[in-house]
Amino acid sequence: MSTRERALLEEVAALLEAPAHRDHPLHAALERLYHHHLEQRDRLERMINIADGFQQSAQQDLHATRHQLERQRRRQRKLSRIADRFQDLLHERNQELADASTQDPLTGLANRRCLDDHLASLAAGAARHGRPLSLAMIDIDHFKVINDRHGHVAGDRALVALAESLRDGLREGDLCGRWGGEEFLLVLPETRLDQAKVLVARLGDRLRALDLALEDQGRPTSVTASIGLAEYRPDEDYRATIHRADQALLAAKREGRDRTRCDAG
Ligand code: GH3
Ligand code: MG
Ligand code: MG
Repeated sequence: MSTRERALLEEVAALLEAPAHRDHPLHAALERLYHHHLEQRDRLERMINIADGFQQSAQQDLHATRHQLERQRRRQRKLSRIADRFQDLLHERNQELADASTQDPLTGLANRRCLDDHLASLAAGAARHGRPLSLAMIDIDHFKVINDRHGHVAGDRALVALAESLRDGLREGDLCGRWGGEEFLLVLPETRLDQAKVLVARLGDRLRALDLALEDQGRPTSVTASIGLAEYRPDEDYRATIHRADQALLAAKREGRDRTRCDAG
């Protein structure tokens, strides 16, 4: 209530109270008007209070909703970060699984299964288009001696170094895989037997020249390899070509190792 209004009401109340005015003809009407005004005032104040209450609770609700929304948003961001990390992890695991199913864990070369798959499709393509395809089976000579002399861990290191040297000595499009133990299979597309001979002669030299850096009283440690070569025949199963390369490898071993033999058949 403003000061002016309060002063006016006090003035009216005083006039109504004064005995001198009790019999005034306007006294009764003024008194009713005065009470009517007070009632209206009361009602107005109650309405203002209710409106204030509403506003306050609406503001509190708004504040609480905002707070809740912000919390939900934070939780959502956290969840989506977790989901992203989970997806990355899943992707990594899938990649690891894919690698594990195609890679030899020690050397990182293609494993036997991968070689098989690759060879099956290459052989089919070679047969269809009449293109040459050769295989070289490589077996490290006397590898057991490396293990016996330097231990299995050093033997593993030597295999890794040998695998690297083979891989680095290949042309693009050739594939080197670990067939098993100390045996490697080279798949050489677009390569005839005479071309394969030149290539494996170079690889044999690389292996022979490689120092495996195993402690051997200051002497470099090197190995030799025996190699069996066979060219794919369009009318045969590629597994038969592998078998012929294997037979040629056995012949190389029999004839004294550190040499290449071609399948004569
Ligand atoms: P050869 O000239 O007749 O091939 O003789 P070799 O000693 O190489 O052949 P053999 O088949 O008698 O022995 C193969 C050796 O290769 C024995 C085996 O322990 C070793 N070897 C096979 N796989 C691994 C491997 O993953 N790590 C290590 N350190 N050695 C291996
Ligand atoms: Mg062997
Ligand atoms: Mg061997």
